[in-house]
Amino acid sequence: MVEEVYDVSKEIVTGVRLRNVKSDQVWDQEVDGFFLAIGHIPNTKVFKGQIETDPDGYILSKGGARTNIAGVFHAGDVQDRTYRQAITASGAGCMAAIEAERFLESEGL
Ligand SMILES: Cc1cc2nc3c(=O)[nH]c(=O)nc-3n(C[C@H](O)[C@H](O)[C@H](O)COP(=O)(O)OP(=O)(O)OC[C@H]3O[C@@H](n4cnc5c(N)ncnc54)[C@H](O)[C@@H]3O)c2cc1C
Repeated sequence: MVEEVYDVSKEIVTGVRLRNVKSDQVWDQEVDGFFLAIGHIPNTKVFKGQIETDPDGYILSKGGARTNIAGVFHAGDVQDRTYRQAITASGAGCMAAIEAERFLESEGL
């Protein structure tokens, strides 16, 4: 965990103070720059117990855009742990829409 970024007041970055959250060890590390990555948690809590996910909460694909529930399809960041980009999410949305249409047709709806 980053506890402090050094020399921001001088409008430069010279180092960071780091803490190992498991061992509580603290140390200073010289660095030339600092980029913050916020991470990603798929927003699938609402489906818990219904749609199958992996241990991190990403929906498990059953091929194409299919989930474990017939007629329920996945698209975007809730299933994609690799790319997580707007363009891949929109492509996945198109796939899900086509599969949904075919599902409805196959059900005579
Ligand atoms: C800071 C940041 C920067 C990014 N920069 C880029 C970039 O430069 N280029 C790029 O390609 N991608 C970028 N991405 C990634 C991109 O935004 C996502 O990959 C994309 O938006 C995923 O689309 P999605 O439809 O899966 O999810 P989202 O866009 O998150 O859409 C999900 C929608 O569902 C709604 N929702 C959630 N829960 C419920 C509910 N219970 N009921 C009804 N609606 C609900 C939400 O309000 C939201 O509108 C960035 C993401 C972040 C966070």
